[in-house]
Amino acid sequence: MRESWTNYEVWVYRCNRCTTTWREEYKARHVADGHGGEAVSYEHDGHQCTSPWCDHVCPKCQSQNVKASPTPWKQAANVPVQAAHYNEDLALVLRLRRLNAY
Ligand SMILES: [Zn+2]
Repeated sequence: MRESWTNYEVWVYRCNRCTTTWREEYKARHVADGHGGEAVSYEHDGHQCTSPWCDHVCPKCQSQNVKASPTPWKQAANVPVQAAHYNEDLALVLRLRRLNAY
């Protein structure tokens, strides 16, 4: 049995000619290939499509000089939480040191 999972990716596009920016949401279907790797196929508006980072045309000026970047919102949400835990641990160590207990 092949393992598969689906997630949503939001990509941000910026036209290098007229500086228009816009975002599009894709459904990414991941399928493990059984050799430690995975294959990803993308759907947009319910249709199979090419990778989000290629073949994009600016909706305003029709330029193909478009830069695509994935939105790193999951990483951005996780990092401050980890940093807060780290600071709590550090504060505890410093307090114990002041009490000569550590
Ligand atoms: Zn444009």
